[in-house]
Amino acid sequence: MSVRALIAEDDSVSRRVLQATLAKWGYDVVVAHDGQQAWEILRQADGPNLAILDWMMPNMDGVEVCRRVRSITAQRGYIYVILLTAKGRKEDLIDGMDGGADDYLVKPVDLAEFRAHLRVANRILELQAKLLAAHERLRDQATHDPLTGVWNRLAILDALERDLARARREQAPVSVLLGDLDHFKRINDTYGHDAGDQALCQAAKRMLSVIRRYDTLGRYGGEEFLIVAPGCESAGAAALAERIRRRMAAEAVFTDQHPLTLTISIGVVTGEGGGPDSASLIQAADQAMYRAKGAGRNRVEVTVLAAAVGLT
Ligand SMILES: [Mg+2]
Repeated sequence: MSVRALIAEDDSVSRRVLQATLAKWGYDVVVAHDGQQAWEILRQADGPNLAILDWMMPNMDGVEVCRRVRSITAQRGYIYVILLTAKGRKEDLIDGMDGGADDYLVKPVDLAEFRAHLRVANRILELQAKLLAAHERLRDQATHDPLTGVWNRLAILDALERDLARARREQAPVSVLLGDLDHFKRINDTYGHDAGDQALCQAAKRMLSVIRRYDTLGRYGGEEFLIVAPGCESAGAAALAERIRRRMAAEAVFTDQHPLTLTISIGVVTGEGGGPDSASLIQAADQAMYRAKGAGRNRVEVTVLAAAVGLT
């Protein structure tokens, strides 16, 4: 993939030379005639990641463009900046580097030197991209259950807090569904943990296929899943839980060795206007889920909270 590069230079002769040279070296080149235009191009979300900026330009000088570029790093990602300066103004370069430039070249630009500096730029940009990818991977690992790919316990609890905060602002309901796969230990003991893992993945998939777009599903514990359903009244939550229960039991789950029957017991609770707190909601859903287990499993039980809770 070719690197996108911006050349900002008010002198048309050296602009054309640099443009032609970069194009020949395989860069995808855009040009700007002054600093203002350079800034307009660089601030765009899909703008270039390499900027070669003349220091002295009309409307906005290269150092100012560089300062502005640095202020939008969080939104735009890292832009590697090379400043071009006239001979004999080397003392200015300290200002330029302080302004956030990565490198500088003295005009007239020696092309062999230019190429060497660009190799450094490419290395830095590649490292930057790798770091970013690694960071995203880590963030993904920190928030997702590695087996099923759904949110992990920490992330689903975060989602619950977030939805409760919004519900407080909007005076809206939030429902919590706690589902526990029935007799799961038996699957692990009889068919082995591989089969158990495959069954967990299938179960998560089935739940994902049933929940609404704005509901959040997370793995809460071993075979326990938590669903946060914002804006969902008690009757709607009970219906959602019932859809999950039916979907789970409808057909066998296929693991490598055996078709297995999976059923789930689900406890449902609904908070109004962002209350009560997350711990109370989960506890209430947990109690409902245990009632479902006690009543024979493969069931949905709903806990209705006392109205007084909403008065806090
Ligand atoms: Mg100039």
